[in-house]
Amino acid sequence: MSEPAPTDAAVALEEGYFHIPTAAGEPPRLIGTRCNACGEHFYPRRETCAKCLSEDTAETLLSARGTLYTHTFLVAPGFGDNQSKGDGYGVGQIDLPEGPRVQALLLGERGSFRIGMPMEMVLVPTGKDKQGRDLLMYRFRAVEG
Ligand SMILES: [Zn+2]
Repeated sequence: MSEPAPTDAAVALEEGYFHIPTAAGEPPRLIGTRCNACGEHFYPRRETCAKCLSEDTAETLLSARGTLYTHTFLVAPGFGDNQSKGDGYGVGQIDLPEGPRVQALLLGERGSFRIGMPMEMVLVPTGKDKQGRDLLMYRFRAVEG
């Protein structure tokens, strides 16, 4: 699979959930919230801390890598161009080092996922907008090597 190059020719499927790299070698990052009162992190973003109820929160970029907490594999029709081939797809929860547990579709073959394995976030095109730009969404895959 080819990964999209950082370019204006690609936009987020929905704004506010992840940062698209603007420089070569820069990883995509999820956009979360950090509580300035207690230090807890959240994904997706929130205005009030769910731990201490402080409203002193700030947007922050979260790590591009995490650990697979759990997973399953669905063999059923899915959504978007990447899921329409009938091969099925993985779904998992990834624990980020900052704390948030992120649910995401997984890239990889059935049977290739193991709880605790290192995962990394990637952006994949899920379709085109009216201007012909790629609409990007995040997935997680096993870290190679
Ligand atoms: Zn807090």
